[in-house]
Amino acid sequence: MSKLAAFGGTAAVPRHRRRVQWPLVEEEDRKAVLDALDGARLVSDTDGVNPVSDLEENWARHFGYEHCVAVSNGTAALALALAALDVGPGDEVIVPSLSFIATGLAPVHQMAVPVFADIDPVTFNIDPDDVERRITPRTKAIIPVHLHGAPADMDRITAIARKYGLAVIEDAAQAPGATHRGRPVGGIGDAGSFSLQVSKNIPTCGEGGLLVTRDAELAEAMRRGRQFGEVVKAGRDRDYVSYGLGWNFKINALQAAFANAQLARFDGYERARQRNVTEFLARLSELPGLRVPAALPDTTHAWHILRFRFDPAAFGLDGVRPEALRGALRRLLRAEGVPMSQYQLMPLPDQRVFVDRVGFGSGYPWSVTGAPGTVAGEGYPVTRAIIADSLTLQKRHLHPGAGELLGLYADAFDKVWANRDMVATFAKAAS
Ligand SMILES: *Cc1c(COP(=O)(O)O)cnc(C)c1O
Repeated sequence: MSKLAAFGGTAAVPRHRRRVQWPLVEEEDRKAVLDALDGARLVSDTDGVNPVSDLEENWARHFGYEHCVAVSNGTAALALALAALDVGPGDEVIVPSLSFIATGLAPVHQMAVPVFADIDPVTFNIDPDDVERRITPRTKAIIPVHLHGAPADMDRITAIARKYGLAVIEDAAQAPGATHRGRPVGGIGDAGSFSLQVSKNIPTCGEGGLLVTRDAELAEAMRRGRQFGEVVKAGRDRDYVSYGLGWNFKINALQAAFANAQLARFDGYERARQRNVTEFLARLSELPGLRVPAALPDTTHAWHILRFRFDPAAFGLDGVRPEALRGALRRLLRAEGVPMSQYQLMPLPDQRVFVDRVGFGSGYPWSVTGAPGTVAGEGYPVTRAIIADSLTLQKRHLHPGAGELLGLYADAFDKVWANRDMVATFAKAAS
C-alpha cells in the first residue's frame, strides 16, 4: 500500500499531468472568428446570412429542434423565455433547490417569484412530487434543470404542467446532447435554454446562449425580445419600431462563429467523453461507500459535471457526519492531484438574495404575491443531504483526450480507499 500524498507520499497524479485545457481552441476556431471579423455582419440585427443565423440553423439541425434563437448568455435566455411566455409580476415559477443561481434569478428578472422544489437523490434533478405540492393559483411555469447533464424526469413534469396548465422551460445549460426517451432535452417543454459560456460542454470564447422551441410564434416573440421589441425580417430594412417590451440580448458574430466551430466537433468530443467517463465510473463503482453518478434508463447523460456521494456507514464509519468524511476525502484526493470540489455550497433558497428578498426594492417582487421568502437552513432535506455528502469533478473530463487522466484519478481513488484507516482517523477527528 503506497503512502498518501497528504503525508509525504508520491501523488497518484503527477504534477505535469494535471493541467487540462478547456475549451480546446483549434485552428478551425481561430479561422471561424477571423472570418467573422472580416465579414460584413458583426451582430444579429441585420438581415441575411451571418454567423448568428448560421449558429441558430446548425444548432437546430444538429440536435433536432424546430426553432432556435441565439442570445447573449444562458441567464438572458431563461429570462427571455419567461417573458415570451408572459410570466410576469404576481406569478410564481417553480425551480429546483439545487442549480446554478441563474435558474433562481431569472424569474425575479421578470418580477416573478421563484418557488423552490426539492430534488431527487439519484438524478439530482427537481422532484416532481415536490413540484406538485408547491403549485398555487399563482404558479405559471416550471423550470426543470438538466443538472450536470442528466435529463430531468420530463414525463412526470410535462404531465403535471398539462394538468395545471403551466408552461415548462427546460434549463439545459449543462446538457446539450443529452436525450430523454430519444428526444433532445430542451425540445420537450415549451422552450429550452442553453448557455455557451466557456466552461460548458459546447463553449464559445466568452459568453453566449440559445433558446429552442417548437412554437413558431414563441420563437418570434423571443426574437423581438432579443432586440428592443423590434421585428427584424430578412430582405426588409430595419424600421426601429418596438412592438413590445424588449431588451438587448443579442449575441455577437465572433461568439457565434466560435460556437459554430465547436459545434462542428461536438459529436467526436461527445463520443470520447462517453467512453472516458463510462470507463472511469466503472472503475470507481467497486469502491465501498462511494456512489457514482449514473444515466437513468432511456436517457443519455451529457456528463457536464460528475457528482460523487459518500456514505459514511458503507465506508465503515458509522456515526461520522457526512461533512467530515467529505472533508477528509476532499483533502486526501486533492493531495493526490484529483481536483475534487463542491458545486453549490448551499441550496438555492438559502442564497441571501432570496432570504433577504433583495429584488427591486421594498421586498418586490415577493411582496406582490405575498409569497413568503425562504429561510436559510430550513427545508429541502434531500438537497441539504447531497450538498453535505458529495463532491464533484468539473471540466477536466470534458477534454476528449481525458481518458488517461481519468485513469490516474481512478488510481488516486483506489489509493485513498486502500488507506481507509487514515481517512477514518481524519474524518473522526473532524466529526
Ligand atoms: C451556466 C448556467 C446558467 C447560466 O448561463 P450563463 O450563460 O452563464 O448566463 C443557467 N443555468 C445553469 C444550470 C447553468 O449551469
